[in-house]
Amino acid sequence: MKKFKIILSILIFSISNVVLSLSPESYSLSKRFGISSFKPKLFNFNPNDHQSTSSSPLNNNFNAINNDEAITKNNNNNNDNSEHIINQLSEMPPSPMRFPPKLPFPKWLTDFTGLKEWPDLNPPYIPLDFINFNKIEDLPIHKQSQCSNPILRSPIACSFDCFNCVEFDDIYTCPKISQTFDDGPSPHTKKLLNALKQKNTKTTLFTLGVNIIRFPEIYKESLAEGHIMGSHTWSHKFLPSLTNQEIIAQIEWSIWAMNATGNHLPKWFRPPYGGIDNRIRSILRQFGMQAVLWDFDTFDWKMLDNSNLRNEKDIYKDVLDFKNLKQSKGIILEHDAILRTVDVGIEILNNILGDHEQLTIPKCVGGIDYIKTFDNP
Ligand SMILES: [Zn+2]
Repeated sequence: MKKFKIILSILIFSISNVVLSLSPESYSLSKRFGISSFKPKLFNFNPNDHQSTSSSPLNNNFNAINNDEAITKNNNNNNDNSEHIINQLSEMPPSPMRFPPKLPFPKWLTDFTGLKEWPDLNPPYIPLDFINFNKIEDLPIHKQSQCSNPILRSPIACSFDCFNCVEFDDIYTCPKISQTFDDGPSPHTKKLLNALKQKNTKTTLFTLGVNIIRFPEIYKESLAEGHIMGSHTWSHKFLPSLTNQEIIAQIEWSIWAMNATGNHLPKWFRPPYGGIDNRIRSILRQFGMQAVLWDFDTFDWKMLDNSNLRNEKDIYKDVLDFKNLKQSKGIILEHDAILRTVDVGIEILNNILGDHEQLTIPKCVGGIDYIKTFDNP
C-alpha cells in the first residue's frame, strides 16, 4: 500500500499544481479579502518602523546546539558557569542534537529516495518530476534583512520579509482573530493541547520536519485532537537565502515527515521568519500549497532575549490593542516550542481573547484542511 502513497502524492501534487492557479479556492480567497485582482498588495507598509522579519525561538534553538558544545567545554573549566548555561537551556526549545529521531524511516521513502534514515538540518535535494524549474521565478537570493536590491522593493519580487508584500494567494488575516503556533511539535505542545481542549478550540500548528520525527506522538495527538497541521519547512532555514533545489528539499522533506506521521499532505505553509518572495511562491504553488502569513506578530521570542526588551505584559497589551483596532479579526503568530511562549499562548487563549471563537486557517478562508489524507496503513 505504502508504495502507492508516494506515487499518489506525486499525482496529487501535479493535479493541484495545474488546478491551483485558477482554482475556485484562490478566487474565493481574493474575494473574501477584497483583493480584486492578482496584483501584489503591500499592507501595513511603513519602511521607517518596519521590523523586517519575524524571528523565532528557533534562533535560540540552534544557538542551543552550539551551547551544548559550550557546556562540554565549560564542564572542564568552570562548573558554576556551566550550571548557568544549563539553567538558560531549560528555557530553550529541545535541541535536535539531544533528541534522536524516534520516527522510523518508512520503506516507501527508502524506495523513492534510496536513503535509509532521516536527514540532518541540511536535507538532500530529491528530484520530483512534477516540479518544473522553468516555472520558478528568477529572483536574486538574499540573506535575512538584506533588502537593498531594488527588485526586492518591487512587486516583481513581492517580498514579505523585506516589505510585507503579500500575493493574491497568501493568507494573512482571518475574519475571526485566531492564534497560530510555529516551530513544534515539542514536549511543551502537550500543555497547549490540554488548554485548547478545555476551551474547545481548534488551532493551526505549523510544524518542523526535524521536530516531527523527534516527537511524532505529539504530532499524532495534535492531529487526533482536530487541530490543523501545516508545514514550517524541514529545519527552519531562511528560504530566500537558499538555492531553488535547497528550497525544494526543505519543503519535500517536511511533507514526507508529515505524511509518514499523519498520513496526509499539507496544504498550508508558513515560511520561517516570514521569508517569502515570488521565487519561493512559484515553488510552493507547484506543491499545491499556499503561504500563511500573519497580520499580528506577538514577537513572543523576544522574551527569551537577555536584553529584556519584551515580557508577557507587553504581549498581552499588544494583542488586546490589535484586537480592538482590527475589530476582532486577524491571524496571530505565536510559538509552541518553548514553555514560556506556550504559557503566553494559553493566557491569550483563556483571558485575552476569552470567549471569542477562533478559526483554523482553512476555516478562515473556506479552504481544504489537507491536499490529501490517506487511510491509516
Ligand atoms: Zn519558526
